[in-house]
Amino acid sequence: MDTNKIINEEKINYILQRGKGVGQKTISHIIEKSKASKGLTIEEAAALLQIEEDTLLEELFKAAKEVKNKVYGKRIVVFAPLYTSNECTNNCTYCGFKVTNKGLLRRTLTTEEIVKEAVALVNEGHKRILLVCGEDPKKTNITHITESLKAIYNNTDIRRINVNAAPMSIEDFSLLKEAGIGTYQIFQETYHRETYKKVHPTGAKKDYDYRLLAINRSFAAGIDDLGIGALLGLYDYRFDVLATLTHAQYMEEEFNVGPHTISVPRLRPAYNAVMENNPYTITDKEFKKIVAVYRLTLPYTGIILSTRETAELRDQLFDLGVSQVSAGSKTNPGGYHNNSREAEQFQTSDERSLKEVIGVLCEQGHLPSFCTACYRANRTGEAFMELAKASEIHEFCQSNAILTFKEHLLDYGYGLNEKEDMLIENALKEIKNEKIRKMTIEKLKEIEKGKRDLFF
Ligand code: SAM
Ligand code: SF4
Repeated sequence: MDTNKIINEEKINYILQRGKGVGQKTISHIIEKSKASKGLTIEEAAALLQIEEDTLLEELFKAAKEVKNKVYGKRIVVFAPLYTSNECTNNCTYCGFKVTNKGLLRRTLTTEEIVKEAVALVNEGHKRILLVCGEDPKKTNITHITESLKAIYNNTDIRRINVNAAPMSIEDFSLLKEAGIGTYQIFQETYHRETYKKVHPTGAKKDYDYRLLAINRSFAAGIDDLGIGALLGLYDYRFDVLATLTHAQYMEEEFNVGPHTISVPRLRPAYNAVMENNPYTITDKEFKKIVAVYRLTLPYTGIILSTRETAELRDQLFDLGVSQVSAGSKTNPGGYHNNSREAEQFQTSDERSLKEVIGVLCEQGHLPSFCTACYRANRTGEAFMELAKASEIHEFCQSNAILTFKEHLLDYGYGLNEKEDMLIENALKEIKNEKIRKMTIEKLKEIEKGKRDLFF
């Protein structure tokens, strides 16, 4: 397949160029329009990406917050990554795991060690994880990944496993589906072909088209919860954000379902990865703009924020449109049960524990959610999007957030304090459907009596 049909650089550059000429009045009009939560066109997103002026940026942030609250309420889903291996045959210039990093201590965890890692995360309070590994056909092949999934599901209280791993064949994606994957996540890193070539000099990953078409192959294998993103800081962020949105639009047109999530990984220092004088470094202000533009353009797509960002910036972004955040993360295999930081992929920035992050979320009035219901109730892909757009999912999500948060409070030693109780009380009031509200209250009583894993 000619991938220019998906990512046409000339067209993206043309739209960006036209976006530059859009006046302030039109930009304000676009921001106003976005508040209806119906999404924006690629052209409108291009205009918003050009905003530099502080007052317009404030308008943009306000709109993003409004749309986030309308679509997701106060909920923020919490998860942690689990790195099973840092062995990799690729040579991504920016990554600590690259094959040329001979000095890095290489490790692929055994199934028992992977279960230990998952247990350590469950002991912290996690229920959803993102399994991550390098690409090594011998060490991190499909058997390694599916065996990991099965072992974690069978031996721990982890209820949803998303995967971020190298692109694979339709056959292997089918095995991943069979093993119970939640979302398959893959970042194109940069959609700009020339830069892609430069930063992926050797290894299987140098094939831009094979990576781009991974989404098509996973869809063909029946995985319809898909996550995309660009590694921000490799190339001009305006181009990469617009290309990510173009990719999302292609998915919507081709499969009738857009990406379940968009991630916003920003380049971090990594072992032997040169970062000096990077002309594409992104400021915090630009980063906030990117999150806001994604939120307004695709109101129903989850936005995932990792601990690559500082605690201070994350606390601002919780309010700006992100809907999923990782917390208490380690990016080295074995990091949780060995409590080490040796051989990590990149340096994390927000080093706070899950408990500390939960504390901040509650302080800011957010409702932490450990919900894993949708994929277990087969609400994925098109079925999920239909419900989401009709806003019906809102009621389920709200109830599930309340139930999983209550469980978390009871099981992880928070005690029952007034602030969290108030948060739950207020969250209950936000459920408009009386029947669902009553059922949620009943389920809460059951949880207090010791029942677990109740969901809608
Ligand atoms: N190895 C697989 C791959 O590359 O697709 C999957 C896992 S890789 C460990 C996950 C993601 O980490 C990559 O897609 C990349 O975007 C991100 N990453 C790599 N180096 C990074 C760095 N220095 N800073 C921030 N993110 C980085
Ligand atoms: Fe390997 Fe992925 Fe790191 Fe590239 S980004 S070196 S493929 S782990």
